[in-house]
Amino acid sequence: MKKLTIIGGGPAALMLAAELDMSKYKVTLCERKKTTGRKFLVAGEGGLNLTFNSSVEKLISHYFPSEFMAPIIRQFTNKDLMSWLNDQGIPTFIGSSNRVFPEQELKPIEVLNKILSYISSREIEFKLDTKWIGWNEQGQLCFEAIEDIESDIVVFALGGASWKVTGSDGGWKKIFEARGIRVQPFRAANCAFEVDWEKNFIDTHEGKPLKNIALSYQGHVSTGELVISKFGLEGNAIYALSQKIQEQLLVKESVLIHLDLKPTMTVDQLRSKYKNSTRSKVSDILNKDLNLDRRSIGLLKQFCDKDTFSNPDLLLATIKCIPVRLQSAGVIDEAISTLGGIALDEVDENFQFKKIPNSYAIGEMLDWYAPTGGYLLQGSFSMGFVLAKYLNGLEVNVED
Ligand SMILES: Cc1cc2nc3c(=O)[nH]c(=O)nc-3n(C[C@H](O)[C@H](O)[C@H](O)COP(=O)(O)OP(=O)(O)OC[C@H]3O[C@@H](n4cnc5c(N)ncnc54)[C@H](O)[C@@H]3O)c2cc1C
Repeated sequence: MKKLTIIGGGPAALMLAAELDMSKYKVTLCERKKTTGRKFLVAGEGGLNLTFNSSVEKLISHYFPSEFMAPIIRQFTNKDLMSWLNDQGIPTFIGSSNRVFPEQELKPIEVLNKILSYISSREIEFKLDTKWIGWNEQGQLCFEAIEDIESDIVVFALGGASWKVTGSDGGWKKIFEARGIRVQPFRAANCAFEVDWEKNFIDTHEGKPLKNIALSYQGHVSTGELVISKFGLEGNAIYALSQKIQEQLLVKESVLIHLDLKPTMTVDQLRSKYKNSTRSKVSDILNKDLNLDRRSIGLLKQFCDKDTFSNPDLLLATIKCIPVRLQSAGVIDEAISTLGGIALDEVDENFQFKKIPNSYAIGEMLDWYAPTGGYLLQGSFSMGFVLAKYLNGLEVNVED
């Protein structure tokens, strides 16, 4: 039996721990916090979106870089994850938007506990409150507060750099850099973006949603919901474009995106409704005939001058294409995920570090991106599963 140490206790690590061949490995899992899966529980606060129900190819198209993620997702798909969860006593259901959640009676903590109880039945040693801080001169793993550990194989699953209260603070970056590993800088992903709102508008509409809208940026269109915040805009529609917007914010001071308040209607359809209206006040036509809520109308007023607002053709064109300027991204710690992490060319196709023998990295600590919609958890679980499959099939001969 070889000694295998997993460092980190998030979804990627837990899936690996659940799937490793225990006749081959003596497994220890070290987590810096007093409990595992803290970010998983935070994810559950807004509805634990475990994966997305679509064809595998469509699923893969949401990952970046998709060439890296494709073989991983193909080996452990959304259907595989649903069936795996079901085997752990976690039935799932597919929501109206094709997002997949645990059955409603299951709270996130119960989902986590079911996964943990399966892992605990596998004689895995948990070392909690055990923060990894690097290697000693002999290459052993060093931790705060416990003795150095000798391990034949090490898997790092240390997460990204947002929500540091959960333990995922990206503090590991400098340790790997000191070892000559390239780590891409962390930036917020699936995050809010700053908009310079007019005071009147934000005082009235802060915290309100804009539902069933579409955003477009550089030919990429994302539909869904936005929330108006004091800082700017957040919500799944903008999260889906966050990686593209962040790329541009590296080279530009601000980024212009376009908001369509009526993505399911053409300008002609809007015009016909407008013309057939019996009302005289523009706001009433927008509200009663075009079915736009108060904040959508407020938004139009912020972005239209008086002449545009009183000219139906210009106004209807604006409803379909409001230019919104984004000034900056929200702070990393509040982001749902992070861009950056271990550069993908530092690991091989089995997640093994090219420069650190018998060491692997999985999960959000690698430099990949996916939007919200269950893709992040799917990606992390898939990596844990795929690495377990690889290690289980390995002719382990680490002395060589
Ligand atoms: C608010 C919020 C909502 C989200 N909602 C969803 C959602 O609905 N669906 C979805 O798919 N994704 C969601 N996510 C993202 C998802 O939770 C993460 O992508 C996922 O948890 C990443 O898994 P991981 O195993 O790679 O890392 P993590 O879950 O971040 O786990 C890493 C672990 O490593 C430990 N660690 C770090 N450094 C050390 C160290 N030096 N020594 C020992 N241990 C260490 C940390 O304490 C942590 O427990 C959400 C995230 C947030 C913040």
